[in-house]
Amino acid sequence: MSAPEDAPEGGRLSPGLRVASRYTVGEPLGEGTSGIVYLARREGDGGEEPVALKVIHRHLSGNRQIYRRFQREAAILKRIEGDHVVKLLELVEHDGLLVLALEYVDGGSLEALLQRSSPLDADLAVHIALEICAALEAAHEAGVIHRDLKPANVLIERQAPPGSRRAAQAALPGRVRVVDFGLAKVVRGEQMTTSLTEQDMIFGTPEYMAPEQVRGDEELDDRCDIYALGCMLYEMTVGSVPFAKRTAIAVMNAHLTEIPPSPRSSRPGGGLPSGLEAVILRALSKRPEDRYASARTFADALAACVSHAQVITPLGAAAASSAQEISATDLNLTRSALEHSPTFPGDLPPAAPAPPGKDLALAKTLPVEAHPAAPARPAASPVASSAASPTLSSAQVPAAAARAGRARAAPPVEIASPPRSERWLWILVAIVFAALGMILGTLFGAR
Ligand code: ADP
Ligand code: MG
Repeated sequence: MSAPEDAPEGGRLSPGLRVASRYTVGEPLGEGTSGIVYLARREGDGGEEPVALKVIHRHLSGNRQIYRRFQREAAILKRIEGDHVVKLLELVEHDGLLVLALEYVDGGSLEALLQRSSPLDADLAVHIALEICAALEAAHEAGVIHRDLKPANVLIERQAPPGSRRAAQAALPGRVRVVDFGLAKVVRGEQMTTSLTEQDMIFGTPEYMAPEQVRGDEELDDRCDIYALGCMLYEMTVGSVPFAKRTAIAVMNAHLTEIPPSPRSSRPGGGLPSGLEAVILRALSKRPEDRYASARTFADALAACVSHAQVITPLGAAAASSAQEISATDLNLTRSALEHSPTFPGDLPPAAPAPPGKDLALAKTLPVEAHPAAPARPAASPVASSAASPTLSSAQVPAAAARAGRARAAPPVEIASPPRSERWLWILVAIVFAALGMILGTLFGAR
């Protein structure tokens, strides 16, 4: 069968294509595991405005699980009201492809920022974390947990809207938005059905997965997002994730068993307030009940551990916000880091299509790759299904990430979770393999 006219590059939409008779497709902004996001223009009464179109990968359009996930992402975005969660305009269909029309965020991802400039100035890291807290507060209030919080799913506006308080504060970056609720789950309120194939699955991205996510616990709650934000705050302030390992299974094992290295002593050049270290480590507690109980309490603790004059607290994120009188000169935010972004959309270059439509393509593996700012982090090594656990499906490294040579392109994983009784056995096996690997590595390395 020949490719449709609008798919000159194996499924990509051509620039200029009209979608749902009101959107004109432009250049790709980014690509993830489930789809490609394009910049587009929407014609309306008031003229044209930019929007983002998240279009399901053509090779996945026949996959019911992904199709339903797109529908669920739309339904979840509709539930959430908040300035720090990307807004859904509508869900449309074009030529058999589901398309999420989203508000366009003119900026770049936190992942791209960290690739350019890492670690971040502590105040900027706290500022970004506070805005993510605000997004989490809104999502959790709507009964939704994100389950795949990571720097690639956090976008930072390039510029504050003219006339806003932020615009007056030249040192501030634009608004932070959380995107990609494709793996999100409604845990309270009006529940949505989970497809049978998604039951007993482990979702998440290894570097940011809470221990209970790694274990495949059935009852996840808001606190798994708190943990992921703790990992991101650690990465922003230290320059590498808490557990940088060669394989995904080693990373996941570390979330279960290892104490994260002290952020203060790991941050190159030091300079991290001890209060901030305590906040980060509390968010990274192994037991959910030892973490902050909510995004609000996390934000309060963050706001309290830095000088009021230095942090902008997003509306609703922290109780301290009303007390803030912010002076631009006091702000020590590294705006230059944000300004020196490559021409946006710079997150990902246009990518070739992923391999044709086998269901297997969904079972992503896990390139846990070298972090440029963290030399200690070993080189990429996709998980071999046999070495790790037979429950891991065979894998592919996402083509876009590989082509772009990106150092930290960890895709989310979807792992069939074994029954509870077996789960611990596999965790034990994984630990033994990891230990064996380390011993052999040390032995051979020593020769
Ligand atoms: P996936 O579920 O496939 O990972 P995402 O929703 O994370 O897709 O989007 C992939 C990338 O597209 C993001 O990392 C970001 O670079 C870009 N992107 C997504 N939504 C927007 C948006 N509303 N505005 C601008 N860029 C976006
Ligand atoms: Mg994503």
